[in-house]
Amino acid sequence: MLDLSKIPFKQSPNCRLGGLVPKYIVIHTMQGTFNGTISWFMNPKAQVSAHYLINNVDGKILQMVSLKDKAWHVGRANPISIGVELAGYVEKPYTLTPIMWESCVELCAALCKKFNLSPANIIGHSDPIMRKYGNNHHDPWKQFDFVKFRKQVQAKLDEKTV
Ligand SMILES: [Zn+2]
Repeated sequence: MLDLSKIPFKQSPNCRLGGLVPKYIVIHTMQGTFNGTISWFMNPKAQVSAHYLINNVDGKILQMVSLKDKAWHVGRANPISIGVELAGYVEKPYTLTPIMWESCVELCAALCKKFNLSPANIIGHSDPIMRKYGNNHHDPWKQFDFVKFRKQVQAKLDEKTV
């Protein structure tokens, strides 16, 4: 299981301190590159952020908001949502790389374990649940297969440590 405390951290100013009670893990597509999105999330004018960013080139993960704090990625659902941003573009399906997918499975399994969440609570920004909170985005990619993804997260959770 991935050790969440070992993930590099770079604090984004775009967050509200305290009060996060995770119910959902929300997957996003950056519509940009890993480094470009880090810069954007460091800019106070952006008014957006996420807890985790994953690079599609090497699968590396960066945390930018503490799991105690609310990131700004899903409007009214921010207080109940952990945000995971994946590098790439929805209109370029090849930017959803296997190495990033694998990192995302590892990350989400560790988060499900920490907060006692079911893989069923891993959803996309475009999920109907998020629409109820006023979201109207279309990410992540259409080919991001949540059924397959949740199964892989469950398999990680079921792995016995020897
Ligand atoms: Zn999004």
